Amino acid sequence: MNTELTIALAKGRILADTLPLLSRAGIEPVDDLNTSRKLVFATNRDNIKLVLIRSADVATYVQYGAADMGVAGKDILLEHGGEGLYERLDLKIATCRMMTAGFKDKPLPRVRLKVATKYPRITRQFFLDQGRQVELIKLYGSMELAPVVGLADIIVDLVDSGNTLKANGLTPLQLITAISSRLIINRASLKMKNRAINEVVAKIESAIV
Ligand code: AMP
Repeated sequence: MNTELTIALAKGRILADTLPLLSRAGIEPVDDLNTSRKLVFATNRDNIKLVLIRSADVATYVQYGAADMGVAGKDILLEHGGEGLYERLDLKIATCRMMTAGFKDKPLPRVRLKVATKYPRITRQFFLDQGRQVELIKLYGSMELAPVVGLADIIVDLVDSGNTLKANGLTPLQLITAISSRLIINRASLKMKNRAINEVVAKIESAIV
């Protein structure tokens, strides 16, 4: 019998890099994920289906076993904490940097630095490691706006080309960590579906560029 496997994929930037990787691993969705409004997709492999969800939710789906495996950015995994899942492969796709950013020459307050971010856990830890307490302002998007309108002194966000920062008059300041997408696996699935999962992991590993 063929063991059923569900793989969670993140919508957005990561998907564009994930689909060619899966294709090289011999896993092809039967519909076009970029244009379909479906959330669950059959593939050319009878036992493998894909679910398409927001990138911030991939770790949660895999943690609870709603998906056996998933592709998630390291940013999401660090923020999630990684409970209930194994980070199995660095897929070396959707690479970027997590950075602090702000105005180029503006002096920053030494106390009560206000930091706007979608990543409060990573941000708190980064400043704690430097012995600094900061005021965290949790946002869900468009972080670049926060320093411009005076909501925060700096932001913590992902930077790729740097164009988004530049377009808003901001500049990258400190590197927090390099980011890429990872293949994650539910701990219970790895025990129960070991053979099927190892077969898919090996195929994906050999497809990493
Ligand atoms: P860029 O203008 O190329 O520096 O891209 C920055 C914008 O794209 C920011 O809003 C980031 O949050 C987002 N971004 C960049 N790289 C990634 C990635 N690998 N995964 C998710 N979002 C990203």
